[in-house]
Amino acid sequence: MPEKNIFQKIIDREVPATIVHEDDQCLAFRDIVPQAPVHILVIPKQPIVRIDQAAAGQESLLGHLLMTASKVAQSEGIAESGYRLVINNGPDAGEAVPHLHVHLLGGRPMQWPPG
Ligand code: AMP
Repeated sequence: MPEKNIFQKIIDREVPATIVHEDDQCLAFRDIVPQAPVHILVIPKQPIVRIDQAAAGQESLLGHLLMTASKVAQSEGIAESGYRLVINNGPDAGEAVPHLHVHLLGGRPMQWPPG
């Protein structure tokens, strides 16, 4: 059996995380190396490696991740000031963990384009 990645271990409660939201489809928890005052990762419980490996039947799940990020932004108090949602897909984007995750970043002004 292949080694579980860190996010699968968080889903399985083998590694602790500060969880801010959970439902039957996804989990949201604080990033361990926050890049903004609010930095939360929203992940599917299903083991989708990255966005370009999502399957045709998973549109609803992908939409649920975005809707959840929006709800968490509201509960974190950054919906009005603004926030950024980021998915790093593959090496050039800096993807480090092979389990789909949406970064929710906010609580400070951000530059565009990103470096
Ligand atoms: P990415 O570069 O898009 O793959 O992002 C992976 C993110 O996971 C990084 O922002 C890491 O800081 C974060 N991360 C790695 N391990 C943990 C962990 N145990 N708990 C919370 N966040 C983590």
